[in-house]
Amino acid sequence: MEKDLSKKLFNVKTTGWESVTDQERARIFEVSKNYIDFLNKSKTEREFIKSAKELADNHGFKDINDCESLKVGDKVYFVNRGKSMYLAVIGENSVENGVHIIGSHVDSPRLDLKPNPLCEDTGLAYFKTHYYGGIKKYQWTTIPLAIHGVIVKTNGEKIEVNIGEKEDDPIFTITDLLPHLAQAQMEKKLKDGIDGEDLMLLIGSMPYVENGASDGDDNKAVAEKVKLNILNLLNKAYGITEADFMSAELELVPAFKARSMGFDESMVAAYGQDDKVCAYTSLAAMMELENVKNTAVCILSDKEEIGSMGNTGMESHTFDYFMSELLNKLGINRSNLLDKVFCYSKMLSSDVDAGFDPIYASVSDRTNAGYIGKGISLNKYTGARGKSSASDANAEYVAWIRNILESNSIKYQIAELGKVDVGGGGTIAYILANKGVDVIDCGVPLLSMHSPYEVTSKFDIYSAYKTYKAFWNA
Ligand code: MN
Ligand code: MN
Repeated sequence: MEKDLSKKLFNVKTTGWESVTDQERARIFEVSKNYIDFLNKSKTEREFIKSAKELADNHGFKDINDCESLKVGDKVYFVNRGKSMYLAVIGENSVENGVHIIGSHVDSPRLDLKPNPLCEDTGLAYFKTHYYGGIKKYQWTTIPLAIHGVIVKTNGEKIEVNIGEKEDDPIFTITDLLPHLAQAQMEKKLKDGIDGEDLMLLIGSMPYVENGASDGDDNKAVAEKVKLNILNLLNKAYGITEADFMSAELELVPAFKARSMGFDESMVAAYGQDDKVCAYTSLAAMMELENVKNTAVCILSDKEEIGSMGNTGMESHTFDYFMSELLNKLGINRSNLLDKVFCYSKMLSSDVDAGFDPIYASVSDRTNAGYIGKGISLNKYTGARGKSSASDANAEYVAWIRNILESNSIKYQIAELGKVDVGGGGTIAYILANKGVDVIDCGVPLLSMHSPYEVTSKFDIYSAYKTYKAFWNA
């Protein structure tokens, strides 16, 4: 029969929802509900790491700095400057023979405040911004924005800022030109429609007034009274002066919440799902590990969106330091052992994939695209236009991963990010691959990547969670 033969030979990708039992559907929705709740308190890299540390503490993980020695079954973590984190569960096999690593990133595209952010123009006060990561600038105007981050004073005191999230908090926004007067703007290319310098956050319009009323000539002596009023409010709330912005990291993120989406509630809409969807699902999977054969390592990295540089990015040697500490505290370290560990290790670079969007079908090769709802998406390689700068997983390793997925009945797909000559993307995969680790990209397909409101399928979120658990238990 032709039908039987095609069923046997074709690799047909179907939606995951069709084969889901009622019990599984309930579990899928439960995992997504926990994910949504986690996202709503973890919009920035600092907040994500704080929530991750809390979760780990509640699941018996210990700070590696507090451990004299390590043994099989121990669960440890290292928090790097509050922005990135590495966790490990020690397995039965010697770390010398390699570990199983899952690595994601917890930073997301956003707007950062400039070091001298505060200014006043024509009676309006603004924060100047410098965008972080690859954004379509027009998407960040006329939406409610919240301010998250820290201000550190010269005495070391750290003030945590989070304003715009609670129902009775004020929010902030960046204005755009009315269409009536936007003729010239509308003629511009979309990428030039909003200038980077024009991403100015509107933060106030009320001048400082002594004793609640104008006192005539005296009061006119001070210029920038709206700015003064803002600084006065900030001084009362946080005890800061304008100079303290120099040692602050304040990030503007969309003020809306992560939500269940669609009449069928099959999707999640949220800011920062690149890459917090993979970070959360891997973290959640790690919390449930017991008696693993191979040591399980989880990386939550920072600065991926701007090239993974700096001491909290994946290019930093702090991860090597963490791995060396595992070897030291297991009492097995010797010179160059870490190189051997990396050469025998396996990794999933867990980062989001571009989901096929039928509205923008022309940028993807339908045969090699990742689809929402069809399960976890593998990318054998990233890079674009001749696989430039790609980390290309070896066929032997891809087969090993396929075997894990298939023997655990996990639905998966393999894809490329866009058409050959259209574009591409990168992840932290190459950084670990360069150390000798076998790495493949493996994450959740996403619609509207890098926008203020990204969309994922709950089926794929669950599929990622199951994949990460199976990989660590392999
Ligand atoms: Mn990413
Ligand atoms: Mn990204």
